[in-house]
Amino acid sequence: MKSPFPEDTGSSPASSRKLDGSRFEHRTWLFDLDNTLHNASAHIFPQIHVSMMAYICRHLNVDEAEATRLRQTYWKRYGATLLGMMRHHGTDPRHFLQQTHAFDDLASMVVSERGLKQMLRRLPGRKVIFSNAPQQYTEAVLALTGIRRDFAAVYPVERFRFQPKPATAGFLHLLHKERLDPHRCIMVEDSLPNLKTAKRLGMKTVWVSTSSRQPSYVDVKLASVVDLPKRLGRL
Ligand SMILES: [Mg+2]
Repeated sequence: MKSPFPEDTGSSPASSRKLDGSRFEHRTWLFDLDNTLHNASAHIFPQIHVSMMAYICRHLNVDEAEATRLRQTYWKRYGATLLGMMRHHGTDPRHFLQQTHAFDDLASMVVSERGLKQMLRRLPGRKVIFSNAPQQYTEAVLALTGIRRDFAAVYPVERFRFQPKPATAGFLHLLHKERLDPHRCIMVEDSLPNLKTAKRLGMKTVWVSTSSRQPSYVDVKLASVVDLPKRLGRL
């Protein structure tokens, strides 16, 4: 069988590399979306930040300093502003997400790497999106990057009952819905707390980051997700 990854420069011998394709046929990739499959920091996150600040100021009747303090507190405690707003202020998650993910021209804001589509097409195994972002936005980004059909299922935050990563509840909900064994899953993410939960549940972990450090619960670290096929030997 011909290796699907002729550019593989990993350390495994050629004979074991040939098995990579079949070895991954029965495994599932859980891909984060923002800052994993595309660069959200360039244009999208700055606008979401502005929208969230405005939302908090308007709906909680607080000034910017207090809104900043609340966001930082909720981010630290829950990994997401959304959960803090729901738990402490009774915010309607659908309204909050709709108001904070409204973009006039999303097409001009999505920045993705050349080769992303080709990489996903050639990567063996089932692929699922697991994102804390809302459905409409998630589907729009997948459509704009031309990779929607590469995913067997898409889980935006609505589909795991507004229990965003890194909380275990959202992971367990997805695993149950998709009938997945976490030991056969590989989580690809830019956020370390999310990978920590994944590892605790038994998954392999891929950290998309340019950081020089690599925590023990990260199996593979990549500067870009398009480099994934080169590192299958470690997963
Ligand atoms: Mg992310």
